[in-house]
Amino acid sequence: MRRDKSKNLFEKALKSIPGGVDSPVRAFKSVGLNPIFIEKAEGQFIYDVDGNKYLDFVLTWGPAILGHSNEEVFREIKLVAEKGISFGMPSPLEVQLAEKVKSMLPYIDKIRFVNSGTEATMTAIRLARGYTKRDKVLKFNGCYHGHHDALLVQAGSGVATFGIPSTPGIPEDTVKTTLTCEYNDLDCVKEALKNKDVACVIVEPVAGNMGVVKPEEGFLEGLRKVCDETGTLLIFDEVMVGFRIHSQGAYGLFNITPDLATFGKVIGGGMPVGAVGGKKEIMDYLAPEGPVYQAGTLSGNPVAMACGLKTLEIYERDNVFQEIMNIAKDFYAEVEEICSKTKGISFNYVGTMFTLFFRDRAPKNLTEVNQCDFDRFSRFFKFMLDNGILLPPSQYEANFLSVKHTKADLELYIKLLTEFVKKEGLEEA
Ligand SMILES: *Cc1c(COP(=O)(O)O)cnc(C)c1O
Repeated sequence: MRRDKSKNLFEKALKSIPGGVDSPVRAFKSVGLNPIFIEKAEGQFIYDVDGNKYLDFVLTWGPAILGHSNEEVFREIKLVAEKGISFGMPSPLEVQLAEKVKSMLPYIDKIRFVNSGTEATMTAIRLARGYTKRDKVLKFNGCYHGHHDALLVQAGSGVATFGIPSTPGIPEDTVKTTLTCEYNDLDCVKEALKNKDVACVIVEPVAGNMGVVKPEEGFLEGLRKVCDETGTLLIFDEVMVGFRIHSQGAYGLFNITPDLATFGKVIGGGMPVGAVGGKKEIMDYLAPEGPVYQAGTLSGNPVAMACGLKTLEIYERDNVFQEIMNIAKDFYAEVEEICSKTKGISFNYVGTMFTLFFRDRAPKNLTEVNQCDFDRFSRFFKFMLDNGILLPPSQYEANFLSVKHTKADLELYIKLLTEFVKKEGLEEA
């Protein structure tokens, strides 16, 4: 498989863009390769500039749950764009998307649209601080909530991949109010909240940014309870898992209601959209209704709203979540079967997301994820890429399924995984 054009483009990019990319994990650094540059994407496939075709498990990091380049979504975007691509004034599509999300997630009274997941969690944190009049926030090691200062503390994803505990450029004073606990460690949270001076606990209800890591039985329930007892707000960061672990996200899967939830990725269907939503009395603290300031020149952009709205309409109409689960069921069972017969591999999956870990037992927190065999992951990534499958280029990432992935596609993954297991001599004697 030749990748000369990608290589040339990367060399050029390095001269004009720091590291040649606009988001670090795209550089393929953690797997020791050069990035591929993309020409186009359709359905479950993505094509690089050298004309190579890959079965895609990245799906633009989650949003493409309908597969890439859905016809209906495209048509809608074109219709809307012809009337103007930005107004800086309210437009009907914002109201429609807000109503759509509310109809799907009944615990949301009000929702504010922003332009990214980062903006969504930043706004949620400010809102929680303003509402509770407390400064401290609590997050979990390995959970990633975007790249703003308050939460870029021992975060997962790109940061953990590069082995940077935090990052230069963030004043120590800023993170002094950020407390961290290990994921699934409820006792740590109880201890941290006991002085009743923490504004909020923010958590990925299923972690996806250290690979897929599941909340243990009772963990989320425990968070809800200790937050209630201490007057702390509970924020579910559903930027990744929203519409992906269940059609109603964590609320649907675990029957737990957060005070605020943040969204991104699927909610924009591939356009830059984020959102924060939740209880009326908290949301009404946002300007101009309330005192907590938040704004955005391009927030609620009509083209982005149209893309998100059409995506969610199709998602609901075509029962997309269930359709994916119907195909995924056998696939998950087969991968588990392979893991049970091999050493050094384990598997976590929830809904339409999964991660294969190169570690004997499935990890339950960042410390355990860090024990994976990262060299083996790099070899796996390269082996799959050379055989026409694009995986997220890091052990710390989730793989995603779309409604376009077929049984045959997933059988190819199984076949290649089986070959890799043999190649690496991982079969149990
Ligand atoms: C991707 C992600 C974010 C950040 O979203 P951006 O759109 O990249 O700013 C925040 N939280 C979670 C859980 C995410 O997965």
